[in-house]
Amino acid sequence: MLDIKNLWKEACSTIIGIKGINAVSYAVWIDSLTPLCVKDNSLVLLAPSSNNKVTVNKNYKEAICEALTRVGSMITDITVIIEQEKDIYAEEIKQYSEITKEKPQMDTKQQFVSRYTFDNFVIGESNNLAYNAALNVAQSPGVSNTTYLGFNPLFIYGGVGLGKTHLLHSIGNYIADNMPEMKVLYTTSEQLINDFVSSLASNKMVAFRTKYRSVDVLMIDDIQFLKKRTGLQEAIFHIFNDLYLNGKQIVLTSDRPPKEIETLEDRLLSRFEAGLIADIGAPNLDMRIAIIRKKMDFEKITVNDDVVYYIAEKCDSNIRELEGNLSRVVFYAKLKGLPCPTLDIAKEAMSHTSTKKQGVIDSQDIINATCNYFKINKSDIIGKKKTKDLAEARMIAIYLITDMLAIPLVSIGQLFGGRDHTTIIHARDKIHTQLQEGNPQIKRAVDDIKNMLKD
Ligand code: ADP
Ligand code: MG
Repeated sequence: MLDIKNLWKEACSTIIGIKGINAVSYAVWIDSLTPLCVKDNSLVLLAPSSNNKVTVNKNYKEAICEALTRVGSMITDITVIIEQEKDIYAEEIKQYSEITKEKPQMDTKQQFVSRYTFDNFVIGESNNLAYNAALNVAQSPGVSNTTYLGFNPLFIYGGVGLGKTHLLHSIGNYIADNMPEMKVLYTTSEQLINDFVSSLASNKMVAFRTKYRSVDVLMIDDIQFLKKRTGLQEAIFHIFNDLYLNGKQIVLTSDRPPKEIETLEDRLLSRFEAGLIADIGAPNLDMRIAIIRKKMDFEKITVNDDVVYYIAEKCDSNIRELEGNLSRVVFYAKLKGLPCPTLDIAKEAMSHTSTKKQGVIDSQDIINATCNYFKINKSDIIGKKKTKDLAEARMIAIYLITDMLAIPLVSIGQLFGGRDHTTIIHARDKIHTQLQEGNPQIKRAVDDIKNMLKD
């Protein structure tokens, strides 16, 4: 039977950002829901009040369902109930509460999604460094400051859905299993901000500091959301120093390297840069296939090779999406009463994703349009040649990507044959300046390519 507590925790860990849910709406409306059972493919959630029930149904239902699909569950709907309605589901609630009772879990372990372990993580070229660094940290956290000078803090960065949270939870699960006496604290920067703000409001700053200073391992996920709020970064800076000097481990993740987090104060930046910085890139096709197979083993599902290949080919940049599509394909086959999805079913199930992508411009569209405009080859624009024409086209494509899309500079560098992010900054600024100076040729090119993209 499905472990709904774990599923709910997993869904909650990804929900911020979906359909406008932010830290506040999460804390007020979603965090207070408790999963009770599943009935007819719908997750039954207990709300603390009827007001909460109405609001969740009206404003957050879609986002919650989306989060549940994202984490690969087959659940398609939610039913929000209040205490008085529990009787209707008494039978199911009993069944589900019995399975949770069977597995009492320790406090530390409860913070972590049990499926996110090192064993379930597929290793490849794109994540090798991050994986090994995380494993090293899990095996000898913090105390190894002297031996592994440079692993503290460990800073992991990479795009959305590439396994950063999975690695943090793997560290947590590993330590909880092997060194249960260690205190591990996992938080997101959103939670940290909330905690800070409410501690300030209730005059509990001492408790705030003590909470974060008394751990052996502190992990902060998605640090790019740290705001420039008075006092917050200062408080974190002092917590960091304390932990570091006491040989405690710090692990951070972000969607970009420390240097590119605009809101980061210099002193924190230099702390973050003092340890090991490991990036995670997009997985190649072989790795995507391996990830699908691992998930199939885990979920005990069978899918033929041609379908596995089709899904892996279609989803090339986000592992969460890859897993979501696998679940969707399997679910479609189930709906049609087939034991195993066929290629046609896969195409049908994923047509939604490809049509959704139409009309949404991505970096490849911009590169292709620029190549068409200047009548040059794609291999040349991302390649090393430096002729005047190619260099100009390349800079314009880079400028347009920075202007139209929110992609970290390092990732743009990767799109252009692994160029350094400083090269990307230079290209962006050069075209920007020429536009401001009214260079007619550049302006025409930028406008024309933008128009081509609109069509
Ligand atoms: P991020 O935090 O980088 O946005 P997550 O850690 O939430 O991404 O990963 C998204 C999903 O992809 C999770 O379900 C995770 O288990 C899965 N995933 C990511 N990387 C791997 C990998 N290398 N092997 C297996 N599963 C992975
Ligand atoms: Mg994450």
